[in-house]
Order: sequence, then C-alpha cells, then structure tokens
Amino acid sequence: MILANENYGKLQASYLFSEIAKRVKAFQAAHPEADVIRLGIGDVTLPLAPACLEAMHKAVDELGHAATFRGYGPEQGYDFLREAIAKNDYQARGCDIEPGEIFVSDGSKCDCANIQELFAQELRIAIPDPVYPVYVDTNVMAGRTGANVDGRYQGLHYLESTPANGFVPAPPAEAVDLIYLCFPNNPTGAVATREQLAAWVAYAKANKALLLFDAAYEAFIRDPEIPHSIYEIEGAKDVAIEFRSFSKKAGFTGVRCAFTVVPKNLVAYAKDGTEIPLHAMWNRRHTTKFNGVSYPVQRAAEAVYSRDGACQCTQQVDYYLGNAKLIRKGLQDLGYTCVGGDNSPYVWVNVQGSSWDFFDRLLNEAQVVTTPGAGFGKCGEGFIRISAFNDRTRVIEAMERIASALR
Ligand SMILES: *Cc1c(COP(=O)(O)O)cnc(C)c1O
Repeated sequence: MILANENYGKLQASYLFSEIAKRVKAFQAAHPEADVIRLGIGDVTLPLAPACLEAMHKAVDELGHAATFRGYGPEQGYDFLREAIAKNDYQARGCDIEPGEIFVSDGSKCDCANIQELFAQELRIAIPDPVYPVYVDTNVMAGRTGANVDGRYQGLHYLESTPANGFVPAPPAEAVDLIYLCFPNNPTGAVATREQLAAWVAYAKANKALLLFDAAYEAFIRDPEIPHSIYEIEGAKDVAIEFRSFSKKAGFTGVRCAFTVVPKNLVAYAKDGTEIPLHAMWNRRHTTKFNGVSYPVQRAAEAVYSRDGACQCTQQVDYYLGNAKLIRKGLQDLGYTCVGGDNSPYVWVNVQGSSWDFFDRLLNEAQVVTTPGAGFGKCGEGFIRISAFNDRTRVIEAMERIASALR
C-alpha cells in the first residue's frame, strides 16, 4: 500500500493569494466596469534591464554555434558568475566570502525550502511571525511540527514582530537550533540594524545554532548604516547561511536566478558532538538534485554587475522605492502608522482593526488590491501590506482613490 506523507494534511488549506484572487474575482464580476489597481502580490513590473537582455541574447547566440555551444554547466554555477557575486556583493562590502562558497540556483524560494533537508528531524525551529510562508510550510511538510492550532503550528517557536519591538524580534530567552530571519523583511518592510543582527549572531554562537538569513530585498537598502549581508557582522561566517536572489534586485522573477552562500567553515553537529561541514553537505545535495541554471540566464545575472547593468538595476529599484515613498506618505497623511517603504518595496500599515475588513474596504471603495497582514501569521492581524511593484501612474491613482475613500 502506498502510504502518503500525512504531514501535508497539517498545512493550512486556504492559501493567502488564492483567497485574495477569489475576492477580487467576485468584486470584478459584480463591477465589470471597475478599474482595479493591484498593489498586492510581490512581483516586479518593469522590463529587464537592457544590459541583462543584451547579455542573454549574446549567450543564446553562443549556444547556436558548435564552437561556443555549452551543455551541462557546473551545478554550483559558472565561475564567471560566482566570481562576480563574491567580488561585488561581498568582498566590496568587506565580507570575506569566496566564489567557492556561492551556490547559484534557480530561486531563493527553492533554496529556503530545500535547506532544511540538511538538518535533523528533532530541531527547535524559530520562525518569524508574520512570515514568508515558505520557511514554515517546508518544515511542516518535513514533519518537524505538530498540528496547526489556532493559526500556529505546535512545536515551532514563533518570533513575534510587533510595534513593540519595531518589527525586529530579539533572540528568545530559551535555546533554539535553527532560526529563519529575513531583512529587509517581507511582509513588514522592516530592516535590522547592525546591533540587532550582532545580537542574533552572538545568540547563534552561544547556542550552537544556525541562522538562515534571507536577503532577497537587500538591493532596496538605502540607509548606509543598515547591513546588506549577515556577513557584515563579525563572526557570522561561523553561524549563518545567506540567501540572495536576482528576482527583486534585477527583475528576474520570471527569468529565475538566485544564490545561496554556505561558508566553508560552517558546521552542524552529529549527536555525539562531531562537527559536520555544511558546505560539503549542501554541495552534495545541490549536485545530486540540481543540474544548474541555464547559461543565458547566468550571463544575464553576470550583467547585473557590469557598469551599465548595475546602474540600470539601481534605477529600477529606485523607481520602486519612489512608489513606496508615495504609498507610505499617502497612508501617513491619512493618519495611519506605517513601517517599511524606505529600504524595502513593502509598506506595512497598521489599520487599527481587522486586516481582511480593511482589505475589503480598499477593494470595494478604492478598487485597490492589497495583502491582508493576517495571511502572513497571527501577528499580521491588524495590518495590511502594500506593494510598490507597479507603474508610477497607477500608484498615484491608487493613492488618490485611497485618500478619498478613507478621508
Ligand atoms: C521574492 C522573495 C524571494 C525570492 O524568491 P525567488 O525564488 O528567488 O524568486 C525570497 N524570499 C522572500 C522573502 C521573497 O519575498
């Protein structure tokens, strides 16, 4: 008899974005003339930077000639890309990361999801609330949690992000083993200071714990005091894995390219305390289960670091940040308290009431789609996330409509 993985049965059925889609569809069916503006899902809208496009075209042409054709590439990524990443994203910021510690992949979602395979079943896991759902659900699927009771999985340690802690949770009083952190944060848009990250690194060292640092929105940081990488913190190379993606930095959500940094000196432990290097484990996992990102895509990613490419990608991020600023100011002018939107494409608005009610109100009265914070976890109740990924004219229009609806 083929037995199923019953852990899947613990997963919460109603996925946030399908519920949003359902409500938007119902609204549109009732109001076919309505011009709905979507500031909900976190997907980029600007076309690829010309430098990336040019590099990709050139690489495609190379594949069409016998002399320059390439088949399987190295699973970990081509050297040209790993070197560009190490140099520009790390060494230029004073982080001692070498190309061999970088694993190129087709997305941070997959990497964040797959990394838990390296660890034992009986871990104590700390997960932010509100949270990007991938961290939680992959551990549920792997059987590391109990049932979901009142919106929380038994056995997980929730790191509450609230107005009281400025949406940056401090390390817990008790010991945990695996800690997911994401800054700039999705969904709150909050950023962590050097001191806050240093507290996590110290905690991980003291507890022989591991930090999984998701820096997918690193390119949106404009405050020079905010670290872009966990490795900007002294000692982090001993306790942290970092996830980065070209999705939000360079508009690669459809192109697909990301990378994970696993330092060579990073270890997990056997039950008897023996150190087990995680670099070798992830290398084994990656080479066994993954066959590399396509050559044209890696060339396009390399172009993100060229002079033109870097400039074009920065301009795109600045454009989204300009939208975010308008959104944040618009809501603040209406008397709402917000975080995010300054070093992040997301504005997290305290709506002083039910997330879903506020979502429905904006949909019905302003024809603007947002994301109810409650969908990201218990602590998200009372908030909505507004995304800056859209055209400027649409954002301006949305803010005008929201202002007249809420005033
Ligand atoms: C968008 C996003 C990613 C990137 O995912 P990709 O699979 O690389 O597109 C990772 N983490 C968070 C929190 C995100 O919002």
